[in-house]
Amino acid sequence: MSTSVTEKGDGKEFVSHAPGYWSRNGGAALEQWNDWKWQLKNRITTLAQLEEHLELNEEERSGVLLSGDKLALAITPHFFNLIPRDNPDDPIRRQVIPRIEESWTSPYDMADPCGEDSHMPVPGLVHRYPDRVLFLVTDRCASYCRYCTRSRVVSGVGEQELHTDFEEAFRYLEQHTEVRDVLLSGGDALIFSDDKIEKLLSRLRAIKHIEFLRIGTRVPIFLPQRITSELCAKLAKYHPLWMSVHVNHQRELTIEVKAALERLANAGIPLGNQSVLLKGVNDNIETMKMLVQKLLMCRVRPYYLYQCDLINGSSHLRTSVAKGIEIIEGLRGHTTGYAVPQYVIDSPGGGGKVPINPGYILYHDKEKIVIRNYEGKIFEYPETGNESVEFARSQSQRDYHDEFLYS
Ligand code: SF4
Repeated sequence: MSTSVTEKGDGKEFVSHAPGYWSRNGGAALEQWNDWKWQLKNRITTLAQLEEHLELNEEERSGVLLSGDKLALAITPHFFNLIPRDNPDDPIRRQVIPRIEESWTSPYDMADPCGEDSHMPVPGLVHRYPDRVLFLVTDRCASYCRYCTRSRVVSGVGEQELHTDFEEAFRYLEQHTEVRDVLLSGGDALIFSDDKIEKLLSRLRAIKHIEFLRIGTRVPIFLPQRITSELCAKLAKYHPLWMSVHVNHQRELTIEVKAALERLANAGIPLGNQSVLLKGVNDNIETMKMLVQKLLMCRVRPYYLYQCDLINGSSHLRTSVAKGIEIIEGLRGHTTGYAVPQYVIDSPGGGGKVPINPGYILYHDKEKIVIRNYEGKIFEYPETGNESVEFARSQSQRDYHDEFLYS
């Protein structure tokens, strides 16, 4: 195992950073290091612990002092080892070390940007789309992301508390036969014990109309030790079970994380990745291309790229939408189609995800469609038949395309 804490892994290579900062003063035995409960018990949670290893700047120090009222500080030793000692602009560091900018307010900021609270028929169960629900099973995670869209409840120190009513949620699901897809999230369900996870999954599987189960998790990235063979064997009993992991930068894909993802894939769990577009983390084509290609090497399909939600105190991490479109434009056609995620904006206030794409359709009417390829070349394809298809786009948008094409 490598012992140095560096920015290694910036390319396509998979590296291990263990034991890193834990090699000092006797450090941790390999057995402890590989124990997920030891990792959770030994998380970095205080300013003093941070300063033992890192040179913090003023913005970070003040941010840490304020984090106790907003979103707790917690970083697993595994993930902490990815953070270099002296670079406050490091893309891993920006995701998990609080900064004073979190106390800034922008006029667009919201506590609940996706309008989840107003779509919660039962405490902890969000029913926003017709045939699927989001089940918030815990408010705890292995580490906390500073841009978390649920920071109002996650970590237990924010402005709201999560009081999931499990029995009422199961009753609601039993009665609502239109629900065929349940996404377990929070927080992160994979920090539960194996038994608790199994109880949850078996209870859901007992509801006949639920066809499809999903777990949204960052545990394989923050705490790869949690993905034990025993856990994988239990998960495999509840197929079809899919998993959405959350990786934002290629350095997060270490040797340990790759092995954990492979264990999940070998258990027959299809893996997708959800990244958040973050300023100073992954807001350039080169980084994003490296990330998506490295994800494929880990058997993970890049699924969504989210425009950062308008969560309170996240304006310093948000990029323009134009940047997101530029990144997709830089991926589509330039690398494997499987590697290109769908860029989405989760509509502020609760309208759900809306796909945002570069403008590949230049014109479309009943006779033809005019399209642009990834190289900017323009092609015309004849529209066939006279089906009365209603275009969803508005007249003003069509006028805009006409103007764009013929000007
Ligand atoms: S792992 Fe997910 S739920 Fe937990 S803090 Fe990060 S973004 Fe929020």
